[in-house]
Amino acid sequence: MNWQTDYKEALRSNEDLAKFFEVEFPKTHYPIFIPKTFAEKIKNHGIGSPLWKQFLPHKDEDQNLSGRYDPIGDKTHSKGNQLIHRYQNRVLFTPTTVCPVLCRYCFRKNELAEKDEVFNQNFAEAKKYLKANPTINEVIFTGGDPLILSNEKLASFIQDFAEIESIKYIRFHSRTPVILPGRIDDGFLAVMTSASEIFMRSMLMIHINHGDELDAEVVEAIKLLTDAGIEVFSQTVLLKGVNDQTEILLELFTRLAEIKVKPYYLHHPDEALGAMHFHMSLEAGRRIVQPLHDLLPGWALPQYVIDIPGGEGKVPALNPESFTFSGTLINRHGKEIKL
Ligand code: SF4
Repeated sequence: MNWQTDYKEALRSNEDLAKFFEVEFPKTHYPIFIPKTFAEKIKNHGIGSPLWKQFLPHKDEDQNLSGRYDPIGDKTHSKGNQLIHRYQNRVLFTPTTVCPVLCRYCFRKNELAEKDEVFNQNFAEAKKYLKANPTINEVIFTGGDPLILSNEKLASFIQDFAEIESIKYIRFHSRTPVILPGRIDDGFLAVMTSASEIFMRSMLMIHINHGDELDAEVVEAIKLLTDAGIEVFSQTVLLKGVNDQTEILLELFTRLAEIKVKPYYLHHPDEALGAMHFHMSLEAGRRIVQPLHDLLPGWALPQYVIDIPGGEGKVPALNPESFTFSGTLINRHGKEIKL
């Protein structure tokens, strides 16, 4: 089955899930979307597996109301034109609200479910904004998931950004290579190759949370990218009950590094409404992540970061004290050291 057909025939309701998995799932007000080939993989891993927990509805989505609608403050930094401008040098560009799957832990699940105004489409205004703000040198395609767009559409965006002199770097954030690995086709490789010729750097950040997602098909898709000389990085979200063990993260980052993917960010879970059952304290996260510094070389170790709730942006989560230039440092064994 090609990826477009797989996408069209995805499971989209509680009834679809019950029929496919032969299990009843709680009805929540968040939408459901899982392509069947990926649902097959979830089924093979079984009830309660890391794949199961990430993509199948849980009653707490509607019952635990302690989280925030917009945990990282997209709204605060939205320019109303498909751009979110939080950091001086770079913008998020949201050309779509569509995803290859709906992840139950997603920090944008409320904005996506509500089709929030953050995603208002106005590309002419977006280009005007970029031209008027030459300190912005990087555009990060996100969403939704940009790889759900056609190769022609992606190529046309790239041509448009190429006309803006100040844009030097292009980045794509995507879950698609894991969910629909067939999407990494010749046309997409050509889009990425052309981007790398136009811009100083262009790269793909693959969102992947557990070694179970890295099956032979996904590895093959990633190999197509790396063999074509495309820079591939990874982003992982720390999730309670899914990957909240040092050994699980160690295995994931080791395998990614072995297939030439640079583990880039490990995100502390955001306080997202509807996803608080995946949340954990910063202290719990630090205890899981700290030992990795003794187990992985720097080139295989992602930066563990936390988005300060409300929109202030990311800071290192493991050892923020070291950024005060005084007071306590914490070494890689978790021991406090006074300067
Ligand atoms: S693919 Fe990304 S944006 Fe879409 S639901 Fe999953 S985490 Fe959220």
